[in-house]
Amino acid sequence: MKNSERIFAAANEVIPNGVSSPMRTFSLVGGSPIILESAKGSKIIDVDGREYTDFLSGFGAIYLGHSRTEISNAVSEQLDKGLVVGLSTEIEQQLAKKIVDSTSAIDKLRFVVSGSEAVMTALRIARAYTNRKLFLKFVGSYHGHADALLAQPEGNEGVATKGTTNGVAEHNVLLCEYNNSEQLREIFETHGDQIAAVIVEPFATNMGFVKPQQGFHQNIRQLCNDYGSLFIFDEVVTGFRFRFGGVSELLDVDPDLTTFGKIIGGGAPVGAYGGKEKFMKLVEIGNKVFQSGTFAGNPITMSAGNAALDIMAQPGFYEKMDAKGKLLESEIKTHFAKFDIPFHFTRFGALSGIAFRRSEADMKSYSDVKQQEYDVFKNTHLVMREKGYLMAPSLEEPIFLTDAHSEEDIKGFAKALAETIAEQLQK
Ligand code: PMP
Repeated sequence: MKNSERIFAAANEVIPNGVSSPMRTFSLVGGSPIILESAKGSKIIDVDGREYTDFLSGFGAIYLGHSRTEISNAVSEQLDKGLVVGLSTEIEQQLAKKIVDSTSAIDKLRFVVSGSEAVMTALRIARAYTNRKLFLKFVGSYHGHADALLAQPEGNEGVATKGTTNGVAEHNVLLCEYNNSEQLREIFETHGDQIAAVIVEPFATNMGFVKPQQGFHQNIRQLCNDYGSLFIFDEVVTGFRFRFGGVSELLDVDPDLTTFGKIIGGGAPVGAYGGKEKFMKLVEIGNKVFQSGTFAGNPITMSAGNAALDIMAQPGFYEKMDAKGKLLESEIKTHFAKFDIPFHFTRFGALSGIAFRRSEADMKSYSDVKQQEYDVFKNTHLVMREKGYLMAPSLEEPIFLTDAHSEEDIKGFAKALAETIAEQLQK
């Protein structure tokens, strides 16, 4: 029996499904889960000694490569000072300042421990500020596992990561199709005066990779202005991925509140929510909204986050990441053309996705996402693993490039991927 199978079987005895987060079962693609032994740069090694070039990259939390020396050193230095939590540190102030200074969308921010918590608190602020109950989210989007945001329309349940769930408090959520400004307007016309906030990902990264259509976010902003609702940008995945800061400047929108996670923690557990002073004031003592956390702003995360942001602040960093994205795009497109693969590749910066459906068009919403050929993806995922490449175990995750991916990694991946898909399509 392989080590991974033995450990997974033992984990199943004490952890539901053997995992602490559903995707780690790999149940959407089959095959046994990967049990991690170690990771360095773009490579991970499992407990059976198998090496993979990693394109899952900690679901986007790893942007500078695994075990990046500068980050590891910063964390070790911090550990020497003691694993203290529950009190403030200067490195917390420093990381907050870097983030606040990176964007005009944020006057102040607070750290929490996960993206889910950040979103949960942003929603709480919106409700308190507006004294309204309803939120609007877009179908297929994932914003963490806060009760309100696990709503999906009937018939769309069963997706392991974002299915409907028992055990949640009342939803109070309105659902709209991503990129459907017309439907959004209609919902606002009916419910606008009860909507506390609209929450949206700048780019949808939890249904593969779906770009916003021209004017989509501006339209949301306008409707929020017209009806007095808050506009929350969930930048848990996009934050610091395309530029040093959030993506609101690039898209030319000004959200009221922004949530961050993943990259800003340098690989350590993190979330942050921030926004305009008049909203952030609500979490100050004596005002309406409560939020706290034993591990919020903990020194391990703060030291890792500061080290990560210092690397990303260096001139040329984002140009380099964009060049990696471009290389992946040109390699994939060349190989797809060679093998006559009818699937569409979409990219922005170093983030990209493949729509496993026979169409030249970009996917626009979750109904497009659902039309993909899941069996082709499943088998592709499994064969790619055999070839030593780890992709996300779901069609609803993007391809996450990191600073550690070399030219050879990217070229090898694109070639292997095209060959594998071509084989699958011939079956
Ligand atoms: N928002 C978005 C856009 C996400 O992608 C995620 C997680 N993938 C979350 C929020 C939740 O973050 P966490 O897993 O850290 O709770």
